[in-house]
Amino acid sequence: MDLISPIESHFRLLGPQKSALRKLGISTVEDLLYHFPVRYGDTAESRNIASLRKGDEAVVYGKISRLKTSKGFRTKIAMADGVVVDDTGSIKCVWFNQPYLAKMIPDEALVRVEGKVSERKKDGELYLSNPKIERVDKLPTAVGDSLFGSDGGIHTLYPVYPESRGITSNWFYHAIQKAFKSGILDALEDPLPPEILERYSLPTLRTALVWMHAPQKDADAHAARKRFAFEEVFFIQLERQRERREWKKNPAFVIEPKPEVIERFVSRFPFPLTSAQSKAISDVLDDFKKGNAMARLLEGDVGSGKTAVAAATAHAAIMTRPRGQDYGSLQVAYMAPTEILAAQHFESFIQYFEHTGISIGLITGSGCRKFPSKVNPRGWTDISRTQLLKWVGNGEIPILIGTHALIQKSVKFKNLAYAIVDEQHRFGTAQRQKLVRKDEIHPHLLSMTATPIPRTLALTIYGDLDITLLDQMPHGRKPIVTEIVLKTKRDEMYEKVRRELRLGRQAYVICPRIDEPDPAKEMAVLAKSVKEEAKRLQDSVFKEYEIGILHSKMKDAEKERVMAEFKKGSIHILVATSVVEVGVNVPNATVILIEGAERFGLSQLHQLRGRVVRSNHQAYCFVYAETQSQKTIDRLKALTTAKNGFELAEFDLKFRGAGELYGKRQWGISDVGMEAIKNIKMVEAARTEAVRIVESDGSLANLPLLRAKLDERKSQRIHFE
Ligand code: ADP
Ligand code: MG
Repeated sequence: MDLISPIESHFRLLGPQKSALRKLGISTVEDLLYHFPVRYGDTAESRNIASLRKGDEAVVYGKISRLKTSKGFRTKIAMADGVVVDDTGSIKCVWFNQPYLAKMIPDEALVRVEGKVSERKKDGELYLSNPKIERVDKLPTAVGDSLFGSDGGIHTLYPVYPESRGITSNWFYHAIQKAFKSGILDALEDPLPPEILERYSLPTLRTALVWMHAPQKDADAHAARKRFAFEEVFFIQLERQRERREWKKNPAFVIEPKPEVIERFVSRFPFPLTSAQSKAISDVLDDFKKGNAMARLLEGDVGSGKTAVAAATAHAAIMTRPRGQDYGSLQVAYMAPTEILAAQHFESFIQYFEHTGISIGLITGSGCRKFPSKVNPRGWTDISRTQLLKWVGNGEIPILIGTHALIQKSVKFKNLAYAIVDEQHRFGTAQRQKLVRKDEIHPHLLSMTATPIPRTLALTIYGDLDITLLDQMPHGRKPIVTEIVLKTKRDEMYEKVRRELRLGRQAYVICPRIDEPDPAKEMAVLAKSVKEEAKRLQDSVFKEYEIGILHSKMKDAEKERVMAEFKKGSIHILVATSVVEVGVNVPNATVILIEGAERFGLSQLHQLRGRVVRSNHQAYCFVYAETQSQKTIDRLKALTTAKNGFELAEFDLKFRGAGELYGKRQWGISDVGMEAIKNIKMVEAARTEAVRIVESDGSLANLPLLRAKLDERKSQRIHFE
């Protein structure tokens, strides 16, 4: 066996196994080795069936029989059931909506079953509802017996792999053991330099793989995960540090405005800058002087005033002449993720720059605009794309704002000196490169984001950028009133909402789900659904108001119609899922009521309440949790005490774990890698090592294995993009 050979050449696979592997993205032996367990079971944890009591969360081992499928009597839900027997007794297992289970597991198979013991109402019979089920090779006969392998009695841990239809943990365990036995580990070379392994007491690649898939003890599994977590963050850091080094090599325009020019521009703002804004502006201006390209990230909550920072620094750039010229000006590009946002920035920039007489262009997929218009010097006009591009190309339009239409090949600047990217995480590195590669002289780059993430994650995924934090809200803004609502106060809460509605304001009601509860999922029963809740509110709470609904399964046209009506004010209460997080801006909506709040992370709740801080009216956020344990309430209270979204992201990391971080999927970090994110020391160590290596050996000439590994990661990424 070798790493790159396809799995199918070594294992006989059934149809469902093949498709399961495909879904998991596992095609080679190497992929198999890097398919890590999510946790480890312990045979010592198992229970005798006879000892089970209602309400227990239990693991039992036994033989399963009488597996069959049926349809629920009233509900018509597909069900499967069977009976598990051990030496002490038997218990029924029932699965809802998983009829395939009955087909996958043969009668009389030995299994491990894990689930909650329930009691049937009519006769008190105990059963396991929706248990996890897994085939095993043999049953543990006593505590300490080994389930797998022939080293009887030494270890009781066994790996549990991510749940997937069609393939079991047992299959993975045996496939990986077979690979190990083929001697594949001897062929593996460790890309991590030995001195790094030593410095942080990390196991070698071979040891780590064995410990990951077949640990003798918890500490082994833990050490293996630590190694792979470190490795992943280290690789990302190396990539980012190398990108950073490449980027910083680029010559850029030196921009050194006179301080009084900046001061005069800023003094016309209708508000005094916060000190965080002033500091952000001076961070950027310092970078501007250096002659090589800036790469900076501006992180600040929604409403912290990032646009003003963009405007002041853009002004510095366009007040500067191109090198060797005593006419014309440098140019600025400002890219936003959506047309609505691009148009919004265009409007704000018109306000900021109106008095300067500077032209501003807007380019999006649906058309182009220019400010000022010839006929109306205070307004903008639609112009043709060709005309706009001509003026951008000859430098007559110094500021161009747009969506990704900005990075099309046909858009050519004369002297692009400064690129601002709003919500950078939506733009991949590749897109960023497109914006800048067109000119020999690289523009300075400012990325702006309001997505709250913990510092460790920022250091990792934005490792190529210098970071400035806008951790202060503008003066005089009325802070949102956030209330954690207790069960007994639901009616009181509705009265408070009604009071705002009477003042002509509007409200959001956020529910965790779209549809009726699925009776098969016990957990779901409690969560409110958009459709039901909208009906209930309309029928019995807010009869006098117009209620609309919004969720992700609606057609786009329908969504737009609802949003337009909400904007217009003909819908007073919008009941929605968390889709309203993005891009919705209705200043008159000042109340948000969040149902089932315990299901959301704190930073997501924070993003949600950001929807209603859009005006000078006092805004309210009511946070209602279904399960009001002290722990839940304490966690939610952080919403009333934390200073900003970033602090809340740290709370989420601490209380819910890296796996639950808001927006997790878009970061492209594996579950194991995310474990490093919990550990600032590990992230800093990975960064330190990456910086050290890149500084002394940027091309990795002395570390060919590491270099090969990075190339491989890169080619995989291109594959996916
Ligand atoms: P962000 O992009 O960070 O979410 P914006 O730049 O859109 O925030 O600013 C939000 C609002 O706050 C805008 O209306 C802006 O004019 C205003 N604003 C920005 N800075 C200040 C400040 N220092 N004092 C008062 N208002 C400000
Ligand atoms: Mg903004």
